Amino acid sequence: MTRVRDFSITQKLTWMNMLVSGTALLLATGAFLGYARVVYRQTMVRYLTMRARVVGANCVSAVLFDDPKGAGDTLSALRADEHIVGAWVYTPQGEPFAGFWRDGGGSAPRMPAIAKGKPEAFWFANDQLMLIRAITFQGKLTAFVFFESDLNELRERQVRYLEIGALVLLASLLTAFLASRFFGQFVARPIRALFDTARAVSRDKDFSIRAAATDSHDEIEVLVRAFNEMLEQIQERDEAVRKSAANLAEKVQELARSNADLEQFAYIASHDLQEPLRTVASFAQLLQRRYKGKLDSNADEFIHYMVDGASRMQGLINDLLAFSRVGSRGKEFAPTDFATIVELALSNLQTAIAESHAEVTHDPLPTLKCDGAQLAQVFQNLVGNGIKFHNSQSPHVHIGAIRKDSEWVFSVKDNGIGIDPQFNQRIFEVFQRLHTRKEYPGSGIGLSITKKIVERHGGRIWVESRPGEGANFLFTLPA
Ligand code: ADP
Repeated sequence: MTRVRDFSITQKLTWMNMLVSGTALLLATGAFLGYARVVYRQTMVRYLTMRARVVGANCVSAVLFDDPKGAGDTLSALRADEHIVGAWVYTPQGEPFAGFWRDGGGSAPRMPAIAKGKPEAFWFANDQLMLIRAITFQGKLTAFVFFESDLNELRERQVRYLEIGALVLLASLLTAFLASRFFGQFVARPIRALFDTARAVSRDKDFSIRAAATDSHDEIEVLVRAFNEMLEQIQERDEAVRKSAANLAEKVQELARSNADLEQFAYIASHDLQEPLRTVASFAQLLQRRYKGKLDSNADEFIHYMVDGASRMQGLINDLLAFSRVGSRGKEFAPTDFATIVELALSNLQTAIAESHAEVTHDPLPTLKCDGAQLAQVFQNLVGNGIKFHNSQSPHVHIGAIRKDSEWVFSVKDNGIGIDPQFNQRIFEVFQRLHTRKEYPGSGIGLSITKKIVERHGGRIWVESRPGEGANFLFTLPA
């Protein structure tokens, strides 16, 4: 069965109108019937009173002259009044004197009691009205007349009223039905159109659709306008989001392209520079070896600078090559045990560890998908720095690993000289160092390679440190 709340708006409106007008009409009919009954009863009482008075007056002489037949004749005239069931005249002592029975004859009923001094009494019983009246002549109680009347007319009238009421009810329900259908379309049609629009919008995700404007000036029009404004705003926002997304994608693409260009340039430059540089370096070395002490003392010094410069340049070019190879020579990621990776890194640092009496510890380490060789490079750079940038204490480096949500956070913490936070970003740039080579050897490429490797794995790297308080390098990798 369809529930009322599942009805369409037109159906609801129709039912509502019919219910309201039907109820109103039923209540009105009920009230009218009640009112008609009261009025009819009052009218009947008044009518019987009048009848009793007239009949009583007409019977007075018959009673005074003890002429029951005369009284009977007078009563017979009541036959014309179809509602009178019976009428009787009694002597002042309550003796039956004369009577009229519509259905023939019988014995007169016992005279009903009437309060002393009261001219009249009436009551309704068994769908009948009884009325008794005292008749006086020249101020003296002469007789009593007693009337019994049916109330058939009331019932007939009520039936008629009901019939009329039913007809009116039917007519008004029909009118309400037609009117709701007619007016309902003014309400339901725009709402239905709004509904169809909303459905189309949500189905097609097309925010350029608009609900048709109504020509009314009611709440529905406001609703339609508000709905269209909402769509307008969504459309604008959608457009803005799309544009900015395209812009973002464009920027990312641009960045990737320029990165790739740079990498390519670094690779070609360093690769192509290697060859002539090797020639310069080897001939400088040859010069140094063959002509040491044979030219003047300045020449020996100059040649020394040449050899030194050439080999430093070779070092820089090698660093640059290593940096450019992070992206181009990276291997595919495979599940790798980080304990093995760290072991490899530490074995590469064996000499440095032994020379500085360093202590390197680590947490239990996970197995993650990565380029193992590159990650070994990361740990080698970070642990190597931790050992290298030590103060008077012997270095202690700890490797930590904690899982946080969807990533692992690795840390390499030392007890060395620390870093001023203002250089937190700079140290990750190519060839950026905070010290001279005399203070601490190195070229400034380690951290930039480290950063590049971490980012290639979808991670981030940063440092937490203060001068003199050791440094803690942290990086993340997707779990
Ligand atoms: P390099 O070690 O060759 O100098 P890096 O790129 O590894 O190059 O480091 C860049 C600079 O960051 C270093 O020169 C040093 O100033 C600073 N640095 C790196 N690691 C540490 C550390 N653990 N403690 C203090 N300073 C550090």
